Amino acid sequence: MAAIAECSEGALFETLWVPHVSFRAIRLGNRRLQRCPVHRRWQLVHRVAPATLTDEQLAAAARYPAGPVL
Ligand SMILES: [Zn+2]
Repeated sequence: MAAIAECSEGALFETLWVPHVSFRAIRLGNRRLQRCPVHRRWQLVHRVAPATLTDEQLAAAARYPAGPVL
């Protein structure tokens, strides 16, 4: 299922966060190392609850939709 994640530099994007399945990501509990689509490099990202975000933040995340898991 799609989730919203925030990288260590505060960029928001959508990502796939499937329990017990991880491709191209190293899981560290609620944080994981993955390639940030905004900064285009590996960063520590964490999940963000959509309810805590403003419409503007949700729109920002939607600019980086979760792609297929490769
Ligand atoms: Zn980033």
